[in-house]
Amino acid sequence: MKLYEYMAKEIFRNHGIVTPKGCVFSSPEGIKEYVETIGSVVIKSQVLAGGRGKAGGIKFADTPEEAVARAKELFASQLKGSSVNELLVEEKLKIDQEIYLGLAIDRAHRRPVLLASKAGGMEIEQVPAEQIIKRLIDVSVGVQPYTTREISRRLGVSGEVAKKLSDLLVKLYQIFVTYDAELVEINPLVISGTDIYAADGKMTLDDDASFRFRSDIPHVEEKTELEKKASAIGIAYVDLEGEIGVMANGAGITMATLDLIKDYGMNARNFMDAGGGASRETVAQALEILLSTKPKSLLINIFGGITRCDEVAKAFIDVKKSVEINIPVVIRLVGTNEEAGIEILQANGIESYKNIKDAVTAVVALTQKKGAYHDNFDQ
Ligand code: GDP
Ligand code: MN
Repeated sequence: MKLYEYMAKEIFRNHGIVTPKGCVFSSPEGIKEYVETIGSVVIKSQVLAGGRGKAGGIKFADTPEEAVARAKELFASQLKGSSVNELLVEEKLKIDQEIYLGLAIDRAHRRPVLLASKAGGMEIEQVPAEQIIKRLIDVSVGVQPYTTREISRRLGVSGEVAKKLSDLLVKLYQIFVTYDAELVEINPLVISGTDIYAADGKMTLDDDASFRFRSDIPHVEEKTELEKKASAIGIAYVDLEGEIGVMANGAGITMATLDLIKDYGMNARNFMDAGGGASRETVAQALEILLSTKPKSLLINIFGGITRCDEVAKAFIDVKKSVEINIPVVIRLVGTNEEAGIEILQANGIESYKNIKDAVTAVVALTQKKGAYHDNFDQ
């Protein structure tokens, strides 16, 4: 389970890690008065996705009026598929340096791993490996001051700041262990003069340890609006950021489809597993969810076992009558009565294949063609 930034920061504070002064709001009410007591502020959307800054979910304001205006904009916005229900309003720090700190589980080594980098602020996935300091932690020893001193030195900090950073790392590890975390991250840790602040906070708790979660942690709903809509009709749906909408029947075949699309140089817009025995109505609703995410094309990959391929084909033709689809669609059918299924689809003008590679090749080509058309159109 992921925690919101403000929840992680509360845990940090309770363990003696300094965070910027701030307050959480669930409406613009009270923000003006609060900002009057603070001065310049940073207003941070509380959503679980990372990269909020780049996506426009973090705003700055120098006056109370400006803060209220920005807050209203953020409350009305959608950020990476989630509505913004809470804002964290914090004092704006003067940043001298941004550092990345993280603790995660290294599954290959079966140990926690401490990560640190001078390249703080940006997403750690974008930082070249040689700029990331990694230390595997022996759980029987924990994070000791000799390790944290070495990390401080390699991060290029010294004196009072190094002492504070060293102390913070020991506390961060205590939090990691106490809360059964899979990830604890501070990005950025801000150095401002001789002070250090956890300016951002991320925590993911191990769901398998949920029976041990402490009573001070409320349940956090992690699904986006669309994911909730899909789960209400019994479909597994995960929002992604690519071009091709994907529907398949089973988690394994869905993931294999995503991998193949990637192999062919594109990305899936989503992960949609319609399961084994989805009804026509469910498939129609699932398609509507898919189309609402505006993919450039659709790839449907079905293994017809108990449900025969000709049945699937007929159902799709049926669904297509009620759902308007004006992007390229490619369907792959394999299994019982596959020839009959493919014939039905092709007779209705839908590109369909038995071989998944042929289907992916076709959908990638159609998606690129469609992209080119759009580019011309925009000019
Ligand atoms: P994320 O994009 O979701 O990781 O959100 P962050 O909380 O990390 O904020 C993104 C970026 O906003 C940070 O890397 C900083 O560069 C900037 N930022 C956040 N808080 C402050 C602040 O108090 N002062 C200043 N000057 N910049 C800030
Ligand atoms: Mn961050």
